[in-house]
Amino acid sequence: MRAKDQSTAERPSLASLDVDGTGGPAESPMQRGSRALLRDINVSLLIELVRRSGAISRADLARQSGLSAPTVSTIVGQLLERGIFIEVATAPSNGGRPPVLLSVDPKAGYVIGIKLRGDGLTTVVCDLDAQVIATEEASASLVGDPAAAIQAIEQETRRALRAAAVPRSKVLGVGIGLSGVIDSSRGVCDFSHLLQWRDADLAQPLRRRLRLPVWVDNDVNTLAVAEKWAGDALTARDFVTLSVGRGIGLGIVIDRSLYRGARGGSGEFGHMIVEPGGPKCECGRFGCLEALVGEDAMRRRVGERHGREVSRDEFIAFAAAGDGATLEVLDSAGRKLGLAVANMITLLNPELLIICGEGTDLGSPFLTPVVTAVREQTFADLGRQVEVKIQRWGNDVWAVGAATLVLRESFSLPGPDEKSHAIWHRPGPER
Ligand SMILES: [Zn+2]
Repeated sequence: MRAKDQSTAERPSLASLDVDGTGGPAESPMQRGSRALLRDINVSLLIELVRRSGAISRADLARQSGLSAPTVSTIVGQLLERGIFIEVATAPSNGGRPPVLLSVDPKAGYVIGIKLRGDGLTTVVCDLDAQVIATEEASASLVGDPAAAIQAIEQETRRALRAAAVPRSKVLGVGIGLSGVIDSSRGVCDFSHLLQWRDADLAQPLRRRLRLPVWVDNDVNTLAVAEKWAGDALTARDFVTLSVGRGIGLGIVIDRSLYRGARGGSGEFGHMIVEPGGPKCECGRFGCLEALVGEDAMRRRVGERHGREVSRDEFIAFAAAGDGATLEVLDSAGRKLGLAVANMITLLNPELLIICGEGTDLGSPFLTPVVTAVREQTFADLGRQVEVKIQRWGNDVWAVGAATLVLRESFSLPGPDEKSHAIWHRPGPER
C-alpha cells in the first residue's frame, strides 16, 4: 500500500493555478530546480529502478544501480524532500527491523498531452503513472493553419489544468503528438499531409506562451513511448506499435530506443506502395497501403457494396453484426495488411507487436487475418515467435501517448540524441 504524501509544506496552493488565462506566474526557482534534478543521470536511473520495481529498499537500489550506498542515500533524500519518492509500508518480517521501501509518488508531478487532428484536439492531464486526471475535447479547423493550432493548444492547456485542479508548479511540461514528419529535436513539424503543414514551429511559440517545456513528436511514435513508459512494452527491448485506422503507422523501438530515422520520417508504413497504379492516397501517390486498407478506404468499399454511403458507426456495427459484404471487405483488407506486417517482421524481427488505433474497433474480422498472415507469411519462425498484443482503444490514448513524451524527457530516458543517457540500455532487474 502506498503511504500518504506528506510533502504538503512544499505543495503550492491552488491560488497559484493559472485560472485567469494570463499566462500564470513565471517558473519558480523550485520548478527549475526540480527539473534540473530530474535530468541528472543518476537521479533518473534511481527513479526508473523504483518505478519499474513498484517498491524497493535503499540497499536493493544501490545493488541494482551500481551506485554507492552514500550516493543512493543522498539522492533518495533529495527525492523524498521533493515528494517524488515516498516511503511505503513494508511486509511484516520475522523479527528485526523491517526495511523501509521506496516508491514513486504518482502525484508528485503532472504532464499534459495533446493529440492534434485536422478537425480539433484532445488534451489530457496525466500523473506520473500516465493515469488520466482530466480530458478536454475541442473542435478547431487546423488544416493548413498552424497558428490556429498554437492558439487552440494554449487555450486547451489552460482549460485542462483548471479541470484537473493541478498546481502549475507541479506541471513538468506539454507533449504534442501529430501525424507527419516531425523534427522532434526542434519541435517543428517539417511536413504533414494530413494537416497540410510545412515547417510549422510549434515548440518555440508554445514554450513562450505557456512558460512550460514543450515536446513534439509523430503521433505513432508517442504510442510507442507510452507502451514503453507504462504499457505492455515496459520490459521489451525490440518492439513495434502498429496503429490501424484512418492512417496506418508504425512506431519502431530498437534496443529500447525509438527509431526515428535520419529526418524523423521512419515508420510511414501506410505509405509503402503495395499496388502500383492503385487508388490515389492522401499523400498524392497511388497504391499506398493506407489507400487500400485504411479505414476510409474500407468503409468506401462497404458503401459501394451497399449502394449508399456508410457512416463510421454503421461500419463498426456491420462488422460486429457479421454483415456479409463488410466481412468480405475486412477479410481481404486484413490479409493485405497482414502480408505487409509479415514483411515488416521479417525485416525487423521484433519480440513484440502491439496493434492499436481506432481501427481495432473493427475487431476480429479485420484483425484475425492480420495475425494469421504474421504467423504464416513471415520468414522462418520469426512470425510464430513474435508476441502479438491488441490494445484496447479509447479516444484519449493518443493524447496519453503525447503526455508520456514529457515523462520520458523529464526523466532523461534516451532519445536518439541522448546516447549517454543509457538507462533503457542498462540491464534492468527483469532481464
Ligand atoms: Zn500514401
